[in-house]
Amino acid sequence: MASPMLNLVGVAKHFGEIEALSLVDLQIHSGQIIGLVGGNGAGKTTLLRLMAGVMEPTKGTITFENKPVSQMRKRLGVVPESTGLYSRLTAWENIRYHSRMYGVDDNDSWNRVSHFAKRLDILDALPRHTKGFSRGMRQKTALIRALAHGPDILLLDEPTAGLDVTSARTVRSLVQQLRDEGGTVIYSTHHLAEAHQVCDRIIIVHNGTIRADGSPNELLELTDCESLEEAYVSLTADKARARAEDDAKEGKLSRWWRYFLTGSTPKSEVVEDE
Ligand code: ATP
Repeated sequence: MASPMLNLVGVAKHFGEIEALSLVDLQIHSGQIIGLVGGNGAGKTTLLRLMAGVMEPTKGTITFENKPVSQMRKRLGVVPESTGLYSRLTAWENIRYHSRMYGVDDNDSWNRVSHFAKRLDILDALPRHTKGFSRGMRQKTALIRALAHGPDILLLDEPTAGLDVTSARTVRSLVQQLRDEGGTVIYSTHHLAEAHQVCDRIIIVHNGTIRADGSPNELLELTDCESLEEAYVSLTADKARARAEDDAKEGKLSRWWRYFLTGSTPKSEVVEDE
């Protein structure tokens, strides 16, 4: 088999004492749709952020065609969990700004953008300031922004969350078309039926490790289950760890109440090592 496009070897990521990911080995080949499935706090977003090169692993290496991911950013398109749009710019200005950073000519960018905007039914909103955009409109704008420079690999954090039924279908068919044209898509999702329908390969992330990895049918065979939901439940039957922020981060209000009621503040704070 050809050498992998993305190669993760012995990757771990710690945030202070929190082990978000431990010893992940993954090889990603081009031309596939890969779903990252897992419970809240399992480590999916952390994995996507590491693959996008926006944070460094604590241990291990991540390479894109044998080079550090940070040198290959132009080849990646990323839709993060929070879309990060500038509210004072219009949707098109947000996208154009991003494309210019990648050295894409405005006309080329507009040709691609208008094509995707028509498909996602958001063309009319491109001249509007993104302040006041609904979650779905933000999501679509961020997706078009990620596609505007023609990346080879798309990393999407829950791309269909917040989208109406028709838009979610369009995103699924767009993702499939990109794969059919030779692109690679890695995306996190909680929708197992969607993952079953769309993904060539599903990686189940549980408590910071890869619990299972295979095609939907392979996971069904492995667990002797009829639906991916049952397979997922049987593969992750042991308790999910508590989310670190549930344990360690305390909201301002509850911190205030703790201080008010007990006169003490929490002993430890979460320390980020980004
Ligand atoms: P969800 O489905 O809820 O979005 P997830 O699978 O994407 O969850 P991550 O966001 O990767 O999970 O989080 C994995 C663990 O790492 C959690 O315990 C989380 O609290 C912790 N974590 C992630 N980012 C940080 C950070 N910047 N600082 C501290 N802890 C973090």
